[in-house]
Amino acid sequence: MPVASGSDTIVVVEDDPSIAGLLELYLRRAGYVVHVAADGEGGLDVIRARRPAVVILDIGLPGMDGLEVCRRIRASDEAVAVIFLTARREEIDRILGLELGADDYVTKPFSPGEMVARVRARLRRQAGGATTSVAVVEVGNVVVDLGRREVKLDGGVVPLATREYELLRILCDNRGLALTRRQILDAAWGTGWVGDERTVDVHVAQLRSKLGNRFPLS
Ligand code: CA
Repeated sequence: MPVASGSDTIVVVEDDPSIAGLLELYLRRAGYVVHVAADGEGGLDVIRARRPAVVILDIGLPGMDGLEVCRRIRASDEAVAVIFLTARREEIDRILGLELGADDYVTKPFSPGEMVARVRARLRRQAGGATTSVAVVEVGNVVVDLGRREVKLDGGVVPLATREYELLRILCDNRGLALTRRQILDAAWGTGWVGDERTVDVHVAQLRSKLGNRFPLS
C-alpha cells in the first residue's frame, strides 16, 4: 500500500458528485490520499495546497473549464500528471490539438477500476521504472497479473474479453467485500451504463466456465 505523502496524493476536479464520489472511493481503497474539488478555481487552490502527483481533471466544469485549469497547472507546476476526463470524443481532439501536456485521458462513461489502473501506471512512470513491482493476485490455481492484464489458470494464459477481465479485477480488488450487482456494474461497466443488472450474473458465469467452477469470485 502506498503511504500518505505528496507522491500518493490525487486531486479529483469534477463537478458531478456521483462521479467524484466513486473516484474518491476507488482511489482511497487503492491506498491514495484523495482531495476533491467541484470547480476549476477550487481545484487550483487544492492543487497548490496539496501538491498532488496526479490530477484527474474533468473538462466540462462550471466557470473555468478543465482545459483552462490544465493551462494554469502547466504554467505553475510541470511535475504533476494530468489525466483528463472527457464526456465526448471531440474533446480529445481539442486536448491533443491545444498541446496542453495532458498525460492521459479517459472518456465517460468509464470504469473507476480502469481509472485507478491509469493512475497507478502514471505513478509508476513518474517513479522512473517499468520494473516497479505490480500487483499479482493469486486465488487457488488462478493468478491475476494486474500490471500485465494477464490471467493464468494452472500456469496457462486464459484469454478474457475486456469486460470479463474488468469484472475479475474488480472482484479481486474487493475480495472479502460483498458487492451489490449495481456496484459491480458501476465499477466494471461505468456509471453511465444502463441495463439489466443480471448482466453481472451472466459475466460471472462466463468467468467461472473459463477459470473453473472452484474459483471463488466473491
Ligand atoms: Ca462535468
